[in-house]
Amino acid sequence: MSIVKSIALLALALAAALVLTFAMRPDLRAALVAEFNDPADLPTLAADPRIHYEAAALPCAEAVVAILPAAIAKIESEHGRPFAKPPIVGVYDSFVIYARANGLGDSDVAGVSRAGRALLSPVLCQSERYRLPGVLTHELSHVHFFGWRGHRAPRPPQWFTEGLAVMASDGGAAESVSDAEAAEAIRSGYGVILDSTPWSDFMAIPFAAEPPCGEGCDLRSFRQRLAYRQAALFIAWLRRTDPESFSRLMRALEGGAPFERAFRDAFQRAPPELWRAFSVSLQASR
Ligand SMILES: [Zn+2]
Repeated sequence: MSIVKSIALLALALAAALVLTFAMRPDLRAALVAEFNDPADLPTLAADPRIHYEAAALPCAEAVVAILPAAIAKIESEHGRPFAKPPIVGVYDSFVIYARANGLGDSDVAGVSRAGRALLSPVLCQSERYRLPGVLTHELSHVHFFGWRGHRAPRPPQWFTEGLAVMASDGGAAESVSDAEAAEAIRSGYGVILDSTPWSDFMAIPFAAEPPCGEGCDLRSFRQRLAYRQAALFIAWLRRTDPESFSRLMRALEGGAPFERAFRDAFQRAPPELWRAFSVSLQASR
């Protein structure tokens, strides 16, 4: 076989392997597509170069510039230190472009953070405008946390990163479930279980008992927001009852420490043990 033919066959086999891999792993495909649709490549807003926007999203970008400084200050105060590097915020007008850029290939999520960027769905300047400050602040919590921790260290459980982001944003991304409703659900036996599985499949989030959703309720979004809000309440309780240990935990995690070890070093107990104490405190405050 000639060298040219061998190289051609090798290239063909490589291309087939790539096609097969991407067919079997849509998450890899979405991540690759996102690499070619980086919000940092969009034009910057003259008033604030941290904001990148699609041309048609200019009014939305101008709404973001008005609230970004307060959102950044809020996260720095809640997390207890400045950002490792200035965040990039992507503002979109097209759901298609947003889905390509967010690394999920999904336009239904209101906001996404990835690689130091907070990406905002067009819906936040349309029908869900009231959510814009909360979701922006929520995504900035992730950007801040992973900006220090880096993306190579193993991810902490999702209950922690999402609970932290909801707490730090005063309920961003969990708007339709209040603190009082989340606390009442825990008291009534519908507490979320702090496991280490990813909570990306919201129907699979484990609760002690299946929380009743009621008529006309969107079960998927209800389960997500109830779980996030309960995790946020727990993290706020940890910080309130033992602020020094909470700071120690945050600094260890930002330094890349594995979650279980960092948590035990800080609090001398595992999350489920402290969750029980937290639940008892909720019963007492009924
Ligand atoms: Zn989040």
